[in-house]
Amino acid sequence: MVATAEKKDESGVIINDLISEYYKTCHGLAPTRISEREFGVGNFDVKISQRHMSFRSERELKDYLAVNSVPYVSSSPALYRYPTARPMEKKIWLGSELVFDLDVTDMTLPCQEKHGKSWICRICLDEVRNETLKLIYDFLIPDFGFSEGEISVNFSGNRGYHVHVNNEEVMRLNAAARKEITNYIAGIGIDFADLFPTAGKKGEKLVGPSAKDRGWKGKIAKNFLANLNEGTDSLIRMGIDRPTAAKLFRSRGLVRMGIENGNWDMVYIKNKGAFWKGITERQAVSQSDRIDRNVTNDPSHLIRLPNSIHGGTGLIAKKLGSPGELRNFDPMRDAIAFRKGFMKVSVNTSHEIYMNGQKFGPYGGEIKVPAYVGAYLYLKGFGRIISFN
Ligand SMILES: [Zn+2]
Repeated sequence: MVATAEKKDESGVIINDLISEYYKTCHGLAPTRISEREFGVGNFDVKISQRHMSFRSERELKDYLAVNSVPYVSSSPALYRYPTARPMEKKIWLGSELVFDLDVTDMTLPCQEKHGKSWICRICLDEVRNETLKLIYDFLIPDFGFSEGEISVNFSGNRGYHVHVNNEEVMRLNAAARKEITNYIAGIGIDFADLFPTAGKKGEKLVGPSAKDRGWKGKIAKNFLANLNEGTDSLIRMGIDRPTAAKLFRSRGLVRMGIENGNWDMVYIKNKGAFWKGITERQAVSQSDRIDRNVTNDPSHLIRLPNSIHGGTGLIAKKLGSPGELRNFDPMRDAIAFRKGFMKVSVNTSHEIYMNGQKFGPYGGEIKVPAYVGAYLYLKGFGRIISFN
């Protein structure tokens, strides 16, 4: 009956009690059409140790998670006629949401060089939130015409965000159509010759993507303008040599006016066609391969249940009311599960943790902290919980 290997020491007993308590009182846990989804649950060692499960109602799901103090629960973006059947083919697929999984560990950030890939700092969380906003507001809404109401966003519970697109048309898409969407978002198949049609033609003005263009062309122009706005160093990071970067930045008003209208010829650059093609091509690739890795195309993939607990942090995989709320969302404040009480913990960490608007740590030894901080430190492996009250 008990699906999860519970933690047996005192720390584990306290955490298990908190998880049970959370599931007794939480709201909004059932995904739409809950009885047609496959569920999987895990323990503190394996995030999915048992799958092919199903629940008929939120009540049944919550009871199961509370009774068993389940630290990880996932559900299928797919709907099935028989969600518990196996092998997979016997489930009979009825449709599937489109899911994007954005994770800090797939990104390369300067702060990670300081604190390592296993830790997540405030900068990391801001960066992955910005990537998620870009996916929604630069691709899903303008280029695919999805509405905000068809897009739901949740914090993953640890180091990223999950974006679910759910409308009738998306649900029915076959594997090839899904691949086409992800290829487009990843920029696969962009024709660079097409970006600068007059490149190499002597005496002709260099015409290129304009900030008003739809799709990738517009994104490339806007991305360049954003870097231009940032300054010379930002242009150098795009692969532009220092003298040219300085020249572009000096004439930024003129350059901006040109590119906004598709004229890339406002300042003199030697071999301009080849130069701009090289720069924009590199930009598209660096923007796209990050997105490519974050797309979930495996139809049998289970993904963290929105509003469930993440057993590696004690945070909630909090579902936002609307995608726009992401702009002001701080998971270390808004996704806290264990709001009540304090813990005495014995921990050792050199990290600073910002939770609920306050700084905690670094710590070495016994300390009394809010329960959510104690749980986070313990679940991240920095020590143990002595008591909770
Ligand atoms: Zn960081």
